[in-house]
Amino acid sequence: MLELPPHFLSSSGGKGGGVIQGAASEATLVALLSARTKFLHKMKRDNTEMEDGVIMSKFVAYTSDQAHSSVERAGLIAAVKMRQLETDDKCALRGRTLQRAIDSDKEKGLVPIFVCATLGTMTSCAFDNLLEIGPICEKEEIWLHIDAAYAGSAFICPEFRPILNGVEYAMSFNVSPHKWMQVNFDCSTMWVKDSTLISDAFTVDPLYLKHEKQGQVMPDYRHWTIPFGSRFRSLKLWFVLRLFGQKRLQECIKKDVRLAHEFKNLVLSDERFELFCEVTLGLVCFRLKRSDEANERLLKAINEDRRIHIVPSWTKGTYVLRFAICSSQTTSEDILFAWKVITEMADLVLK
Ligand SMILES: *Cc1c(COP(=O)(O)O)cnc(C)c1O
Repeated sequence: MLELPPHFLSSSGGKGGGVIQGAASEATLVALLSARTKFLHKMKRDNTEMEDGVIMSKFVAYTSDQAHSSVERAGLIAAVKMRQLETDDKCALRGRTLQRAIDSDKEKGLVPIFVCATLGTMTSCAFDNLLEIGPICEKEEIWLHIDAAYAGSAFICPEFRPILNGVEYAMSFNVSPHKWMQVNFDCSTMWVKDSTLISDAFTVDPLYLKHEKQGQVMPDYRHWTIPFGSRFRSLKLWFVLRLFGQKRLQECIKKDVRLAHEFKNLVLSDERFELFCEVTLGLVCFRLKRSDEANERLLKAINEDRRIHIVPSWTKGTYVLRFAICSSQTTSEDILFAWKVITEMADLVLK
């Protein structure tokens, strides 16, 4: 459905494959820990005397200043320095920014190991420039992970699939069907180019987990995740795929995007408001053409009114309201209803 390059699929006969994690945060952490192990092994080959801790203290990873907080957190948990690089005016991470950071860190004697690019950021649904970042990661031999937790579901539609171009450069890629593909929490699908690098990072084989089919159970998913045990998440995903079918799942996405544009047009029709960024998928970021403080008051009024609920964000130092459409049940009437509430509250706040 996602038209992934075959090297991500175990059916291609190579080392690629996929696993269902609980959440996108876990996928990012698993990718970072795998990259850390890969580079630790690589550096130990040339520096047999050096302590693991000394080697790892040189590792550095990159993401954008728009990445989800779980990426920064993965850096904390894995004890790898995570640099949050500046994005352009469309909130996208660009190749030259990444290259500059890599060069500067290498000059300091650090070892760049990992880049987490985002397709569809939490704050404004921005897309990092994969076609610039990918080749840099390839040239520098850095692990590229793509976090497409929310936007990834849209890539099952041919008109949105081009956004994923450049995925072929990634070592790992993640999308969470629990965000926007009718699957209930938790279900986050992760693909990797080389699954041995994942299992290398996580394999220990105590006696009580040994079994007669050791080595014959392929793939052995307990080596792909942080917990040993895992829930039977594929079952509910399978049921959703069977119940909806590809076409209806695509239609749900298209309908939500269409509604997002309806909402966008309502925002544009009221001159007190402005859009904060382009509407590509189901997220509309907007604000009053007033101070951040006025927008904070508007948000508070909307949420205290309790007919609808909006989650804001600070994006590049500006307070924005985020209107997200991702339920199969949402209709044009809901959009009109929400807009009525928002304008009523704006009347109050601006009075
Ligand atoms: C929602 C989201 C996350 C976090 O997802 P969890 O599944 O809750 O861990 C991470 N990255 C992006 C881009 C997201 O939209």
